[in-house]
Amino acid sequence: MINTSNLSKTFGKNEVLKGISTTIKHGEVVAVIGPSGSGKSTFLRCLNLLEQPTSGEIHINDINITAGKVDKLKIRKNIGMVFQHFHLFPHMTVLENVTYAPQKVKNLSKQEANRLGKELIAKVGLTDKEDAYPNRLSGGQKQRVAIARALAMEPEIMLFDEPTSALDPEMVKEVLDVMKDLATTGMTMVIVTHEMNFAKEVADKVLFLDGGVLMEEGDPKEFFTEPKTSRAKDFLDKVL
Ligand code: ADP
Ligand code: MG
Repeated sequence: MINTSNLSKTFGKNEVLKGISTTIKHGEVVAVIGPSGSGKSTFLRCLNLLEQPTSGEIHINDINITAGKVDKLKIRKNIGMVFQHFHLFPHMTVLENVTYAPQKVKNLSKQEANRLGKELIAKVGLTDKEDAYPNRLSGGQKQRVAIARALAMEPEIMLFDEPTSALDPEMVKEVLDVMKDLATTGMTMVIVTHEMNFAKEVADKVLFLDGGVLMEEGDPKEFFTEPKTSRAKDFLDKVL
């Protein structure tokens, strides 16, 4: 479903991604882990062209999205993204946050969007908050709204960039549980995370980035018990 070949990204003289080649299959849940500054966010942002790769190619469903003329909006419609800091629209209720894009971008009627929105809000366990404004919600609730909002575009792929890093510890689980549910539905998910237990339990595959290089890629069980590189060993020693 997603294939990157020799994906590179440079900011000025800073080579942040150094030729990442990998394949993510339909329905796969992939955890991207690695030290701060290793290029995890940049990798994710390249996948939906929030960053334009400097060189290399990204194919999504066999379409080269790094070729000259691509419809970025069309690509992004198919790829939901959830950020560390929720980015909800503060002046809109929960239901309005979730139903805005489907009406604007997918031309759903208000009625259709509300039906879909309510279904998704129920899925993330926030039916009683439909009419609340974001400032009335906890961090965990905000992030669950952000997930529902991304899902409202009915994307084929969901990207998560440290979705629980800004949350108080007691709210991490409710967000991870929603993501775990989503994983069981067969959604293709790429998740940058520091939640190693979640990665171990839920991911089908781990990508370990260090210094912009894909140092290791493989089965979480193997990666967490027997990392192959000393970089990965060092990293796991620090975080586990
Ligand atoms: P991670 O998510 O693994 O912490 P990032 O992908 O955010 O790493 O960043 C990798 C490197 O790229 C860092 O050195 C960061 O300073 C740099 N970087 C990221 N985004 C930009 C940008 N928009 N402009 C310049 N440098 C950037
Ligand atoms: Mg990051």
